[in-house]
Amino acid sequence: HAVRKINFGAGPAQLPLEVLESVQAEFLDFNGTGTNIMELSHRSTAFAKVIEDAEQDIRDILSIPDSYAVLFFQGGATGQFSAVPLHFLNLKPSQTADYLVTGYWSEKAAKEAEKFGKVNWVIPKGSKYQDVPDEDTWKLTEDPSYFYYCSNETIHGIELIDVPAIVPKHVPIICDMSSNFLTRPFDVTKYAVVFSSAQKNFGISGLTLVILRKDLIEKTCNKSIPTILDYKIHIDNGSMYNTPPTFSIYITNKMFNWIKQQGGLKAMNELSHKKSSRIYEIIDQSNGFYINSINKKYRSRTNIPFRIVTNGLPNEKLETLFLKQASQLNMIELKGHRAVGGIRVSLYNGITLEQTNILIDFMRTFQTNNN
Ligand code: PMP
Repeated sequence: HAVRKINFGAGPAQLPLEVLESVQAEFLDFNGTGTNIMELSHRSTAFAKVIEDAEQDIRDILSIPDSYAVLFFQGGATGQFSAVPLHFLNLKPSQTADYLVTGYWSEKAAKEAEKFGKVNWVIPKGSKYQDVPDEDTWKLTEDPSYFYYCSNETIHGIELIDVPAIVPKHVPIICDMSSNFLTRPFDVTKYAVVFSSAQKNFGISGLTLVILRKDLIEKTCNKSIPTILDYKIHIDNGSMYNTPPTFSIYITNKMFNWIKQQGGLKAMNELSHKKSSRIYEIIDQSNGFYINSINKKYRSRTNIPFRIVTNGLPNEKLETLFLKQASQLNMIELKGHRAVGGIRVSLYNGITLEQTNILIDFMRTFQTNNN
């Protein structure tokens, strides 16, 4: 087939070739049904097996206990920005949720929650989002309804590897893992809710996975949650109260399978570490030609923004040339988000080490030719 581009975009992301080929092989006849999976009823036994397999696989991959529900939602991670406060903002007498805002996406979530009630911004509103202030400066609510954070800021390139230690154990922790989900192991039981849209690390758009501690639902007192966002309704109906995004769930089933075949989260973790540390090495050894301004402690492994700098200033002309030449070598979607400019390299699960090495070789050559 035609040369496949290497897509370093922030999402929807590149899928592993094996997954695409398997979809292609089943395109006209899924499992002897004589139809494509997307033409099948969500109530069919063929589709039931797909969604059941997907749930079992993610339970295996993350060792999710039975006390947690696994839900297949629509509405994107953005839908969860509303669902979370609608369910839990008034969980405690404080009627306040703590939001740790470390970049564009947690800021969006905090602002959405403010439509529904009281939100405490744990750290002062930043503008650049290149660092996270020390935990001992955080302003926490005495007994908040929940503590919310985003484990990886896709645009700013800030990653928080673990639950912040300062948050007391009894506080429900809610996390948007949309851009680093399944790139490293984590302990589900530390969280009340984890959500992630699929189109970066484990599928295509249209599906958002929600992992949720079931007992919290019993405590929700809001009676006016829109049905489409209602966790209890989704739990009671096995994520099929209405027509679920069947094709997206099918792709995710394949991605979970692929992740297991690669060696699970241990393998994804090693891959993510190798790819990202090589890119950061090139940046840090470039004598200031490539600059990533994030505090090293919080550098993201999945989204790496950088500027190309000459005479102490970002050089937009060179950045444009970089994008043009990269594209001539079949590397696409490297343009930084307009909020930060420059270049952004996204290294999700579907990007191989070999592809990362192609980019690294190009970055070396580009510096030699333009320094
Ligand atoms: N959170 C994060 C961290 C994201 O990167 C994104 C999308 N890029 C979103 C939320 C929004 O996701 P969606 O487009 O699926 O609503």
